[in-house]
Formats: sequence, structure tokens, C-alpha cells
Amino acid sequence: TQTALMHAQKLEAIGKLTGGVAHDFNNVLHIINGNLDLIKMLAVANAKVQERCQLAQTAVRRGAKLSAQLLAFARKQPLQPSALKLDDVFEGIDLLLKRAVGERVEMRYEIAPDAWNVEADPQQLENVILNLVLNASDAMPEGGVLAVSVANTLRDGAEYVHLALRDSGVGMPEEVKARAFEPFFSTKGVGKGTGLGLSMAYGFVKQSGGHIDLDSAPGAGTTVNILLPRTDEAASARKSEAAAPVQGGD
Ligand code: ADP
Repeated sequence: TQTALMHAQKLEAIGKLTGGVAHDFNNVLHIINGNLDLIKMLAVANAKVQERCQLAQTAVRRGAKLSAQLLAFARKQPLQPSALKLDDVFEGIDLLLKRAVGERVEMRYEIAPDAWNVEADPQQLENVILNLVLNASDAMPEGGVLAVSVANTLRDGAEYVHLALRDSGVGMPEEVKARAFEPFFSTKGVGKGTGLGLSMAYGFVKQSGGHIDLDSAPGAGTTVNILLPRTDEAASARKSEAAAPVQGGD
């Protein structure tokens, strides 16, 4: 549709810009960090200096995390698609997801045993899933249920695997839902949300030849629907590393 095209063009323009800025920003952070290391060495005996440098380096790490998200958003890293079985993908990151949502959120899986394989970049798919799961967790401060379902489906005669993440959280009012995929749109406040999670998910899914939409209403929870194209290829033997570090987290 027209709006989808405009959205894609807008994303591309912002992606180019942020990619460039994030890259230079990373170099700047690198120089700051190196000099902080040097200052710490020059003032080993000075506890106050050590403490201040430590604080500054914590801030540098936060900046590095943000620029990593910006770079991922700008899709500087090209996609490396392979044939995947979503069952295996979730098995590989189950522990990570459970740790991310904490004990107050119960995770349920409804994965069709006959689900087709999909063609997608495994690393970036995991990143997208983690971002969506963190969003669901944010939406359920008092706890709740996050259901992950995977099933085969058809749309306009084409075969897709339908991945749905359904939370029992606060849901979105119409005006939030309308803007949720916009880059930098966030209702979470400064330092809490980058507003990049859903726009990254959007970019990834579109680039993978799929579809993504939201089903949400205040008080009724949110479902993120993702359709990924089926592939005939057998899933690659890859098993994801469950303990892989998450975006240099802090
Ligand atoms: P961020 O999480 O950094 O704010 P996102 O792009 O991931 O950025 O999300 C944009 C906005 O969409 C969020 O600030 C929030 O208002 C809304 N949102 C996203 N996921 C959910 C969800 N599962 N439930 C309710 N609101 C959500």
C-alpha cells in the first residue's frame, strides 16, 4: 500500500542518517573510554578519581548500547538468512527470554509440531524476539502471561509461518498503536525506551519478505503478529547459544 511504501522510504532515510551518526558516535566513545582508562592508570591511588572515571565509563557503556541499537536499526549488518525451525529458535533462547521477563511473567509456548521452516537471519530474529518479549514484560508490571504461538498459514495464496506473541498487559490506545512502528516513538520516557524496538522488528520482517501487525486495545493486552515466508529447505543444523550475551547489556 501507499502508506507502507512511505513508511519504508522514511525508515530508509532515517536509517542512513542514524547509521552514519552512530558509527562516528562509536568512535568518539572509544576515544573517551581509552582516555578514562589512562586517567585511571595515572591516578591509581586516588579513590575519588577512580570512582568518577568508573561512573563516566558506565555512561560510555550506555552510549555504546544505544549506538549498537542504532546501527542494528540502520541495518549496517546485512542479513544472513538461513533455513530455520522456529521451534529450535525458541528452544535456544528460552532461558534468555525467561531471564528477561523475570518470574512475574509466565511464558507459554503453543508451537505446531508440523510448522514449516522459515528463511530468516537467526541472530537478528533472536534480537527482534527479545525486543518484543521485553516490550511485553514492560506492559505487564504486575505480571501476566506471555503466549508464544507458531502455526502455518496462507495469505494471498502464499505460504507463511505465523508467529504470534500475545501478552496480557496494558495494551495500547489507538494513538499509540498508530505510531508504534515509528522509529524513536516511545511512551516510556527518557533513558527507558529508545523507540527502536518495533521499528527494528518492522524493518527486519519486511526485509525478510514477511508481514507484521499489532492487535491491541487498552486493558485487552497486545498481540504482535509476524508472518515469515516458508522455505522448502531443511532447517540448518545450527543450535543457538542459549547463553549468548544480549546487546552488551548493563
Ligand atoms: P520502546 O520499547 O523503546 O518504547 P518500541 O518501538 O519497542 O520502543 O515500542 C514503541 C511503543 O509502543 C512503546 O513505548 C509502547 O508505548 C508501545 N508498545 C510496544 N509494545 C507494547 C506492548 N507489548 N504492550 C503495550 N504497549 C507496547
